[in-house]
Amino acid sequence: MSREKLLNDVAAEVVVCTRCALWKARKNAVPGEGSPKARIMFIGEAPGSSEDLQGKPFVGVAGKFLETLLSEIGFSRAEVFICNVVKCRPPRNRAPKPEEVQTCTPYLNRQMKIIKPEFVVTLGNCSTAYIFSRAHLPFAGITAVHGKIYEVALDGMRMRVFPTFHPAAALYSARYKDQITADFELLKNELAKRGII
Ligand code: URA
Ligand code: SF4
Repeated sequence: MSREKLLNDVAAEVVVCTRCALWKARKNAVPGEGSPKARIMFIGEAPGSSEDLQGKPFVGVAGKFLETLLSEIGFSRAEVFICNVVKCRPPRNRAPKPEEVQTCTPYLNRQMKIIKPEFVVTLGNCSTAYIFSRAHLPFAGITAVHGKIYEVALDGMRMRVFPTFHPAAALYSARYKDQITADFELLKNELAKRGII
């Protein structure tokens, strides 16, 4: 079966999923989207209100900033894969609960196995903590670990993980905006070194 078909199967399950309580308040689940052949995957935390309305990841203000960052490293949204740890919006945008992460992440894990990205960019604490825990790496918070490459093996797949701040953080702090911009510069160098851009 093609990667596209397998990803569509995951998305079809997500949009009708009732495995955790977050389905009750959602308007739309947000499976994630992008190229089935993406060499780089971006993982956020959970949908916000714009994403819940449209059923697409990172389409609000934070998403606009992510698009700017992507264009700085030479990518359009369609060339990468963008998704979240948790696929339905938590009420009032609270952080997802550990049991919600645990219940929802089999979908993310399947997406990763289908796409087999060479690079995974984790955006913020939630997705970084999740991927680090799966990779058995100690996680001391995004401030401690951001802007570096971590070579990991997940489900037998070797990949490079690059944690950075969540683009929403840049909207309320100029310091975070500078740091995430600087991280994307480092990422661009790494991608160039590996022949990905
Ligand atoms: N924040 C996220 O973590 N994900 C989105 O899709 C939008 C905002
Ligand atoms: Fe299902 Fe995930 Fe939505 Fe919970 S958050 S209902 S596990 S898709």
